[in-house]
Amino acid sequence: VTDGRTHRNIWVFMERRLAQGPPAGVGPNRLQRGPIHAVSFELLSVGNRLKRSLGEGLVAVFFGEVGGRERAECAEFGADEILCLSMDPALERSCEAMAAVLGRAAEERGPSILLAGATMLGRSLMPLVAVRLGTGLTADCTELAVDEEKGLLLQTRPAFGGNILATIVCPGTRPQMATVRPHVFKMEKAAGEEASSPAPAEPRVVKADYETGLIRIAEVLETVLEGEETDITESDVIVAGGRGLGKPEGFELVGELARRLGGVVGASRGAVDLGWIGAARQVGQTGHTVNPKLYVACGISGAIQHVAGMKGAELIVAINQDPDAPIFQFADYGIVGDLYEIVPRVIGALDGGAAD
Ligand SMILES: Cc1cc2nc3c(=O)[nH]c(=O)nc-3n(C[C@H](O)[C@H](O)[C@H](O)COP(=O)(O)OP(=O)(O)OC[C@H]3O[C@@H](n4cnc5c(N)ncnc54)[C@H](O)[C@@H]3O)c2cc1C
Repeated sequence: VTDGRTHRNIWVFMERRLAQGPPAGVGPNRLQRGPIHAVSFELLSVGNRLKRSLGEGLVAVFFGEVGGRERAECAEFGADEILCLSMDPALERSCEAMAAVLGRAAEERGPSILLAGATMLGRSLMPLVAVRLGTGLTADCTELAVDEEKGLLLQTRPAFGGNILATIVCPGTRPQMATVRPHVFKMEKAAGEEASSPAPAEPRVVKADYETGLIRIAEVLETVLEGEETDITESDVIVAGGRGLGKPEGFELVGELARRLGGVVGASRGAVDLGWIGAARQVGQTGHTVNPKLYVACGISGAIQHVAGMKGAELIVAINQDPDAPIFQFADYGIVGDLYEIVPRVIGALDGGAAD
């Protein structure tokens, strides 16, 4: 697909979260289970801004059916159309099958732009779709804008270890594809921009059923969410541990503090690379971007790639034995000392003991 002029509309892949339990019912409704991932609404917000510059429509693309409340939500975020894709439900959450269907739909309907969250699903699905369509994909964009003269999507992302911001364009092929991590963009409803603006019109719903051309080799009987499925981006409090913990058991202490503060455990890539904790906990450029109310960094040096993922926290507390650690430049409160002395004292103080 090489002629940009024949391609129109901005598509946003609307991701559903996994829901625990056996598949509900049969048919395409099985795909209608978990709630919509917040990043999908963040992307609709961006799409709504882009569509005004491009003069194109905004399409929310779902797998499965869409309920009335969800239609209204899509309208609030500026969607003009909801495209419901269906396929053999036995292939539910199979990235290959979803990519086959999304690719076929894009070939037939010709969007100019296709956006998805840089979630576990989005990161797996979008490269497969891009390969099928023979187009480019820019992962983990931090800014999306439009070159109005050329009608091109300007896709900005950190490059060379985060030292520069590169703006990437895809001039020759369509759709222009990008992923964006959760919380990078704010949710902004299209409705209510002006106090007097009327309620948004319900987007029209278009249904399309595609053969995947794939053979079913497995069926989802039950979805069991384990600890590692914890989405750290949604917590108001994150207590993160780094290489300074010195051993994997250090995360037990970090976890203890997180529990007392009603939060979750995060980690630096240093700790993840050592196999001390799962990659789902990693904060930073190649991990999650988080904006909690409180971020406590224990034994984390504050490398720029780590800070890129947590500098949006409202309050940052750093515990590090090196007074010159870069993390202190970003911390609202810094405690210089051995985390194995300090963290138990903080826990003791939270338990009502004397805070010394
Ligand atoms: C392309 C690229 C992408 C990357 N993406 C990420 C990313 O997403 N996230 C990420 O985190 N990193 C990322 N990194 C790696 C990053 O550059 C750092 O190597 C990493 O963040 C270091 O982890 P750390 O702070 O845990 O370890 P270190 O840098 O080794 O720091 C350990 C700190 O612990 C302190 N310490 C030691 N013992 C104690 C103690 N007992 N009490 C208190 N303090 C103690 C030390 O003073 C030190 O400051 C990336 C790197 C590259 C090149």
